[in-house]
Amino acid sequence: MSRNEELFARAAQSIPGGVNSPVRAFRSVGGTPRFISKARDAHIWDADGKQYIDYLGSWGPAIVGHAHPEVVKAVQDAAVNGLSFGAPTEGETLLAEAIIKRLPSIEQVRLVSSGTEATMSAIRLARGATGRAKIIKFEGCYHGHADSLLVKAGSGLLTFGNPTSAGVPPEFVKHTIVLDYNDLDAVSEAFKQHGDDIACIIVEPIAGNMNLIKPAPGFLEGLRELCTQYGALLIFDEVMTGFRAGPQGVQGLSGVTPDLTTLAKVIGGGMPVGAFGGRADVMKHIAPLGAVYQAGTLSGNPVSVAAGLATLDILGRPGFYENLAAQTKKLVDGLSERAKAAGVTFCADSVGGMFGLYFRESIPTSFAEVSDSNIDAFKVFFHAMLNQGVHLAPSAFEAGFVSAKHDDAIIAQTLDAAEKAFAAI
Ligand SMILES: *Cc1c(COP(=O)(O)O)cnc(C)c1O
Repeated sequence: MSRNEELFARAAQSIPGGVNSPVRAFRSVGGTPRFISKARDAHIWDADGKQYIDYLGSWGPAIVGHAHPEVVKAVQDAAVNGLSFGAPTEGETLLAEAIIKRLPSIEQVRLVSSGTEATMSAIRLARGATGRAKIIKFEGCYHGHADSLLVKAGSGLLTFGNPTSAGVPPEFVKHTIVLDYNDLDAVSEAFKQHGDDIACIIVEPIAGNMNLIKPAPGFLEGLRELCTQYGALLIFDEVMTGFRAGPQGVQGLSGVTPDLTTLAKVIGGGMPVGAFGGRADVMKHIAPLGAVYQAGTLSGNPVSVAAGLATLDILGRPGFYENLAAQTKKLVDGLSERAKAAGVTFCADSVGGMFGLYFRESIPTSFAEVSDSNIDAFKVFFHAMLNQGVHLAPSAFEAGFVSAKHDDAIIAQTLDAAEKAFAAI
């Protein structure tokens, strides 16, 4: 038994499924998850001491590379002064200001401890601020695990959704309308039928939780127009794309301005931080100013905030995003070439430091199209890469992440491994 297998078996005794977040369990690819003992720059090491090139990056946060000395020092310096106070600190204001300075759509921001908390709170705020109940979300977009968001499309167009998790009563999701990503006509129709009662649309403006899916031209613009026309709020869930797709997230890339934005992942630099923010006239509805309740014992935690500030500082340096996007593009272009040479049906796409790998003819535009890819081929590819020391996301429905430490040598090594992996398919 490898040490990973040993640890996994032992973990399963005390932790359901041996993991604290389900995708880590390798259920969709089979095999044993690697238990990570250490990470540095673009590499991680497992419990057997094997080294991997890491394209998981903690699902996004590790954008400056693992254990960046400046981030680690900021955490150490903060920790020495106490771990948590339950009273305000200057660091929270500095992080809020850093976010506001970078994202012009945000006038005020509240810090929380996870992406789930951020989206759940933003939706409550949208409902409280508009006095409306219904929300629109899109199939395949993930916004954390709040009850009203664990829902898939019902059988007919514009029927309300069905819970995707046991423990969520149908009544809890009856106000959630689930539509296909990139289907603007369906959104328009939903507003025609329910416009007076739709509080908000929540959308991943580039989706990263059903593999990587970009918005069709005009999709985000159309959502903006409909929300404005019907008095609903547009929420960009940039928990993944914020400071990852580009220096101003997708709102910067698209020029479409949301009313509210949710953030997490990168803004914590590897520590638990989330945030939701937007127009001041909407944010004023949050307690203690307004009637929408929201709170958190560890919100704005000083150690987490220090990690976030140090990370944002590095991201602000000249050329950071140009380099990140160029390396990510080298990776996906190289993979596409290797697949073609091996005769494997494959394509790939990227934005900033995120990428998608698709075992199908063309780049998908919806959840249905991603589902229609060759999942078995992905599994073979995944394990062939893992064996050669390349750690990809363990599911065909996840995006991948590149850090500033993925240099040319690391990309070349990845492509050499991919050549063999494609041959195995
Ligand atoms: C990761 C993610 C979340 C949930 O964040 P957690 O910190 O895991 O709760 C929400 N929305 C999007 C778009 C995400 O990628």
